[in-house]
Amino acid sequence: MSKRSDQGLERKPWKLLLWTALAGLVFGLIGFGDIFEDWLRVARNSFHMHQASRQIVFVAIDDKALHEIGNWPWQRKIDAQLTDRLTALGAKRIFFDINFSFPSSDRRQDEAFASALDRSGRVTLAARARTGLQGTVINDGPLPMFTRHASVGLISVQYNYQNAAWHLPYALKMGGKLVPSLASAIAGVGGPDGQSFPVDYSIQPSTIPQYSAADVLTGKISAKILAGRDVVVGTATDAVGDQVFVPGYGRGFGSQVHIIGAETLKQGRPLDLGWLPAFVVGLAAAAAMLLRRRLAERWAISTSTFAFLLVAPGFMEARLIFANVTPGLFVLLTVASALGWRRYRTRGLVNQVSNLPNLNALRANRQGRSQALVAARILNYEEIVAALPPNGERHLIDQIVSRLNVGSPGRVLYQGDGGIFAWFEDPRQPFGNHLEALYALFRNPARVAGLSMDLTIAFGVEVGSGRSIHNRLASALVAAEEAAHDGLKWKYHDPETLENASWKLSMLSQLDEAIDRGEVWVAYQPKLDLASRRIVGAEALARWTHPEKGPIAASEFVAAAEQHNRIGKLTDFVLEKAVGAAAEINRRGVDFEMAVNLSARLLADKGFTLRLSALLARHGLAPGHLTLELTETAALTGSGEGLDMITRLRDLGVNIAIDDYGTGLSTLDYLKKIPANEIKIDQSFVKGIVDNRSDRLMVQSTIGLAHSLGRKVVAEGVEHRDILDLLIEMSCDVAQGFAIGRPMSLESLTRRVSSERKRTAA
Ligand code: C2E
Ligand code: MG
Ligand code: MG
Repeated sequence: MSKRSDQGLERKPWKLLLWTALAGLVFGLIGFGDIFEDWLRVARNSFHMHQASRQIVFVAIDDKALHEIGNWPWQRKIDAQLTDRLTALGAKRIFFDINFSFPSSDRRQDEAFASALDRSGRVTLAARARTGLQGTVINDGPLPMFTRHASVGLISVQYNYQNAAWHLPYALKMGGKLVPSLASAIAGVGGPDGQSFPVDYSIQPSTIPQYSAADVLTGKISAKILAGRDVVVGTATDAVGDQVFVPGYGRGFGSQVHIIGAETLKQGRPLDLGWLPAFVVGLAAAAAMLLRRRLAERWAISTSTFAFLLVAPGFMEARLIFANVTPGLFVLLTVASALGWRRYRTRGLVNQVSNLPNLNALRANRQGRSQALVAARILNYEEIVAALPPNGERHLIDQIVSRLNVGSPGRVLYQGDGGIFAWFEDPRQPFGNHLEALYALFRNPARVAGLSMDLTIAFGVEVGSGRSIHNRLASALVAAEEAAHDGLKWKYHDPETLENASWKLSMLSQLDEAIDRGEVWVAYQPKLDLASRRIVGAEALARWTHPEKGPIAASEFVAAAEQHNRIGKLTDFVLEKAVGAAAEINRRGVDFEMAVNLSARLLADKGFTLRLSALLARHGLAPGHLTLELTETAALTGSGEGLDMITRLRDLGVNIAIDDYGTGLSTLDYLKKIPANEIKIDQSFVKGIVDNRSDRLMVQSTIGLAHSLGRKVVAEGVEHRDILDLLIEMSCDVAQGFAIGRPMSLESLTRRVSSERKRTAA
């Protein structure tokens, strides 16, 4: 058995086989499938139909005979005449399938028949057997005065549930003497006491030569017809009875059954194998199917065995070998359909390429709850598969699986898509060494289809935290990813990152409510004009003071909100406050410009310009007093649509600034295309200009470039006086940073602005 086949999902079918086998045994023993069995045999018979030998002739006491000779029962002297007539016509032997067990009212009639029997010397008379407490005894046997001159043949038939005559006995022991059946006597083929044989109904009853007893008695039958042949005399009319059900043909007469029985024995001695051989074949095929994993192989086994069990008995029966197949078919079909059903049900639980259970199966594994979960990630899996020939992925997986199984061959591996494997480990075992050994194994390249490929693997471990397997698997995969990222062979899942991650997610859902509850507010960071040395504006920055967590960095919740499309409400809130604040300051006679950060996502919001101009109108702020800051990347990824929006905002009279300039992939072309009137050099460059030559060069050249394009330059992150001085030297336009002022409340900002006014006014 291959290692994979007894994994998880497939353990139960052996139980199934056992139960099916037991059911099949009972099935066979009680003959439960007989209806179907007979039906099959009749169908098979039609493929090797043949004619009777014509050596046995049926002289029928039919309607014509009753009409011409007289009503039934006939006087015995007619039987005597018939005997004499048949003897005279040269019949080899005469078999009366007629009841001679009762005396006639006129004794002379019986005597006449007895002497005809004596004259003929070749007559066999029918008797029935009855099995009771005293053993098998003759029932309805011919009168002793007849049996003195004639032999006895049994006309007992073994009927099945539907009164079909399938089997005849060879002989029965009665009173110490073996009495043959009529068929056995005709054919001259004997057998042991009590044994019976199947009647071969592929011999067509209609091909038995049949003549009316009337024609025999009235001399219409010539010696040519009967000479040297065995004759069976019996009734063949609805008026008398003795009708039986002849399988495959419908209603027939008892004599025909005995003749076909005799014809059967004349062909040879039938061998009845019973139902066990086919049962064993069916069982073996079912077991073979369970051993195979491939659907095609299972299909081949089941269909070929099924066909064999249906067809082979036909060929055997042509050679008089009989076998019952229904218990065998039952076992085969039950197991095949159970496997089919199981496959149908587990389709979603098996990896289609490797047939390994997949991650859904892993998630459904209840025993895994108490175990550690290891996830392995082949980092360059897709890349490798893309380079492989068709079917190569299977070989690759085989190699990966055999490596992963080193050291623990019995373990159940689960496979996900894209080079993910997972399994459970005993959490009490130190498996770090094991994972490192596995990692070392993967340093050897895999060889598939003559190609040699390096596999990069990383492992992540989740030790069991009582969470659902679904979550634990995700954590183990994250840990594997982190291990790869940190250049480690394997890594434990760190519950702290989990806490962070879940906090991040819950934070998102809390953000909207936080705005409503007033936990979110806006801080303003002043901007200094370097030529006039005056505060000419401020940048509005969102702030969230969480009741439990305290202040949360804008970068943290803004990024999360952006990724999950929740930025709209925050932006509206900040804009509302900032525009209001700017209008207020401008009303005091200060020329003041407010900057608000705009998420690139909003560039796709068609209604934004409309809402914005309404907002400006409502607060009475001139559009030229508002600057929208777009981060470089955000504007960059903007399609034509984004550019259109920027243009429309510019048309409205609003200023556009490129935020965090230098961190993205801006090109000259891009700078030219974006209709921004301000460039904000990212703080990472500004902070270093005093000590770092290349930062200084970068800032200097950007200022030159922006000026040549007619753009204003703002430097962010001005933390010290030295930086400020250097920026003045470089003829930068505006500076923003801790050296000028930290983000502050609106109150502080207005106080600062008005005190500055007073100072300059004074
Ligand atoms: P940003 O637009 O580049 O904002 C400047 C950031 O630099 C602010 O961080 C500010 O506090 C910080 N900063 C200012 N001067 C200095 C300095 O001298 N030294 C250092 N080290 N830092 C300085 P903050 O407030 O944490 O904001 C981070 C980012 O979050 C902002 O970067 C902006 O992109 C985004 N953001 C803030 N508020 C909003 C908002 O309302 N809407 C949107 N869409 N984004 C926002
Ligand atoms: Mg900004
Ligand atoms: Mg910035």
